[in-house]
Amino acid sequence: MSKRKKSTTAFKKANKFIPGGVNSPARAFSAVEMDPIFIEKGEGAYLYDIDGNQYLEYVNSWGPMILGYNPPQVIEELEKQLQLGTSFGAPTEVETEIAELITEFYPAVDKVRMVNSGTEATMSAIRLARGYTGRDKIVKLEGCYHGHGDSLLVDAGSGLATLGIKGSPGVTENTARETIVAPYNDQKAVAEIFNKYGSEIAGIILEPVTGNMGVIAPQRGYLEFLREITYKNGSLLIFDEVMTGFRLSRGGAQELYAIEPDLSTFGKIIGGGMPVGAYAGKKEIMDYVAPLGPVYQAGTLSGNPMAMQAGLTTLKALKKEDVYLELEKKGQKLEAGIKKNIEELNFPAYFNRVGSMFTLFFTDKEVQNYQDVKECDLDLFAAYFKEMINQGIYLPPSQFEANFISLALTDSDLDKTITANYKALNKLK
Ligand code: PLP
Repeated sequence: MSKRKKSTTAFKKANKFIPGGVNSPARAFSAVEMDPIFIEKGEGAYLYDIDGNQYLEYVNSWGPMILGYNPPQVIEELEKQLQLGTSFGAPTEVETEIAELITEFYPAVDKVRMVNSGTEATMSAIRLARGYTGRDKIVKLEGCYHGHGDSLLVDAGSGLATLGIKGSPGVTENTARETIVAPYNDQKAVAEIFNKYGSEIAGIILEPVTGNMGVIAPQRGYLEFLREITYKNGSLLIFDEVMTGFRLSRGGAQELYAIEPDLSTFGKIIGGGMPVGAYAGKKEIMDYVAPLGPVYQAGTLSGNPMAMQAGLTTLKALKKEDVYLELEKKGQKLEAGIKKNIEELNFPAYFNRVGSMFTLFFTDKEVQNYQDVKECDLDLFAAYFKEMINQGIYLPPSQFEANFISLALTDSDLDKTITANYKALNKLK
């Protein structure tokens, strides 16, 4: 009898009423040819499915749950807010408090506009970049994913990469034409684009450290080059820190690499597990947004008090002195253990990590861009995923995703993961 009989039944029913049975394609487990697992609850570093199985997990709800599942301080604040009301459509002080806290850690940010998802954040940032510069073209990088807004659904990573599609029907040719794509970590390609279209480019948007084609760090000098070329051409540099913000460090990738973008987008962690996104930047640019400026953007539930309380409490927890050191230590332990396994077994795999984000690529060469990820052995990845889930370790079900380390993971959880990794690789050798 299947260990996940109830999940299989629930998925069959979901398929009747929800396209593909899921509300986001990344949850579909299609790349690993399994039924998705239906979750009942989360606690610390563990998820529990509706069949009562327990999983040590590295998805973190795709990034937000840096404190682990159900952190008591977040629950407490949510319960308090619940008694006061869930939505007012009018300003609350907590919105200012969280905006102020974000500006504290991001010197490139004077003002923040809250929205409800990462997609909204990047869509709005692109509109603002276009409105502010009076230009139409956007440069994006192959394999970076910025949500499902039309302009950015071109050569995107994450779920599109998993499904092996370049874009989406429904995005008009005219829209796609305004988005110019360059490979990640390729200065020459970006220089050529700016040579040709420099005066028409509103901005370049990127994941400064990628997560949506797996974890890839920028090569030395790459972000500096992007900063310089955008500055010289009067275009905006937009760091999509929806995944990396408050994850790689308190100040995100921009702190880690000491680069100040013109606009930054946030999501995931700043909502503490509630639906939140934000776009942010210097006063001069942000004041171009309505009601002060002409660029229009709005939201019925934007700055929702429940979401703001969860986000603020999470960010306050991340203010503690040694939080990022602790995450780094966990990352180092896991990295050392998995790299030792790879070496001992002489297994063709490449482990890449930046802070608390990592990916195990099934390839024997270094991974620098989207093409390298596409050349990974995806069947081997799927087999590895199954070996791990059968040992109770829940990983993102795609080679084109980042794994996340939460503060809830203990040393013994990490040891368990390293042992499971050894067993899985040994079996697949
Ligand atoms: N930007 C990045 C870097 C992301 O990783 C994601 C989602 O994974 C998004 C934007 C879109 O965010 P959301 O799924 O909240 O719309």
